[in-house]
Amino acid sequence: MRRKISIFGATGSIGQNTVDLVQRQGGAKNYNVIALSGAANMALLAQQAIDLHAEIAITALPEKLPELQALLQNTNIETAAGADAIAEAATREINWGMSAIVGAAGLNASLGIARQGATLALANKESIVCAGELLLRECRKYNATLLPVDSEHSAVFQALQGADHGALQRIILTASGGPFKDFSLAQMQDVTPAQAAAHPKWDMGQRISIDSATMFNKALEVIEAKHLFNCEPAQIEVIIHPQSIIHSMVEFVDGAILAHLGNPDMRGPIGYALNHPNRNPLPLEHLDFSKLSRLDFQAPDPTRFPALRLAYRVLETGGLSGAVFNASKEAAMDGFLAGKIGFLDMALLVEKALNDPYLNDQIAADVFSQNVITKIDLAARQFVNALIKNG
Ligand code: NDP
Ligand code: MG
Repeated sequence: MRRKISIFGATGSIGQNTVDLVQRQGGAKNYNVIALSGAANMALLAQQAIDLHAEIAITALPEKLPELQALLQNTNIETAAGADAIAEAATREINWGMSAIVGAAGLNASLGIARQGATLALANKESIVCAGELLLRECRKYNATLLPVDSEHSAVFQALQGADHGALQRIILTASGGPFKDFSLAQMQDVTPAQAAAHPKWDMGQRISIDSATMFNKALEVIEAKHLFNCEPAQIEVIIHPQSIIHSMVEFVDGAILAHLGNPDMRGPIGYALNHPNRNPLPLEHLDFSKLSRLDFQAPDPTRFPALRLAYRVLETGGLSGAVFNASKEAAMDGFLAGKIGFLDMALLVEKALNDPYLNDQIAADVFSQNVITKIDLAARQFVNALIKNG
């Protein structure tokens, strides 16, 4: 039987790699592709939909619908537009779904896939950061299999296969350190979005690349790890490892540490999630130890990278503080991209949002209610936007 699959965020960095692997594994011959979604890039979305014989192609942007319709007019592929259309497409029955939209906008796709009782390949870490309890509850309720696609969490997941979970001592997440690993605070003050988006090791979308430069990406990943592996905050450590060869590690109570290694290529974790529980050959360069001169490690500097400290604060606070954290971070990045605030201001604004009494009051609200999560997300964005506007 051909597996029914959908790819949300198909036109992005993760999405294109996913489509590439699906194509290499037989494409429409071996997969029954239901939904593909994108936002701005209609030429690519239409081509992907034609190549994979998708049932429906959806753009998040209603103004892009005429272009998509024109590109697909001589096909029997359905078209639709808007966030609601993506949410609807995510209710269509599948066995496997990739959640690779960027930002909290990806939550509906993640929830939709989970509610199919399908395998949820989760690249969109924002879903689990802002709505971890809800997403995990829905996975349990509908018997969905959640497979992390984030390279670090895929590494931990793989290292924990067959392990004695009760004997887990530590999860050690590796971080490349991003492009400003060795910058002084004064140098970081003036960096531009283009500099921040140029990641030294991983080829990724713009927003996650900037999150790597601030280490907000690792901060999101600390929160993601807590939810996925159900551990205490003190059990999660971050270490800078600039070569990005070790993708993360787990330590057990007997002192044994298992590490997952490979060249940095997202087709590794995407392919693992696509083929799970099997492993198929993947089109990536295998690691040649004779060409590795060294593996370096250093502790992250909390002064230059305050995002990590804020992540542990979110874990201690619990409730919906992850939603405030993620939304204020997204709004601050919008301000940075628009040239309204500096690079270092992003963490300052997120900390202000976490300190705000009104937002803090909301944090204790129902962690399982999607409406409440959406409301807090909006309130945190408005809070940050008002601070940016008022200088
Ligand atoms: P990209 O920016 O490359 O792609 C994002 C995708 O989402 C595109 O398909 C884009 O469409 C679409 N999109 C953008 N805005 C919206 C919106 N408001 N509503 C619906 N769709 C939208 O991002 P990445 O592929 O880098 O990242 C995707 C997710 O995966 C993120 O959550 C990221 O944190 C996570 N991730 C990414 C990794 C990577 O290596 N890239 C590694 C680990 C996790 P279009 O391009 O057509 O405008
Ligand atoms: Mg990662």
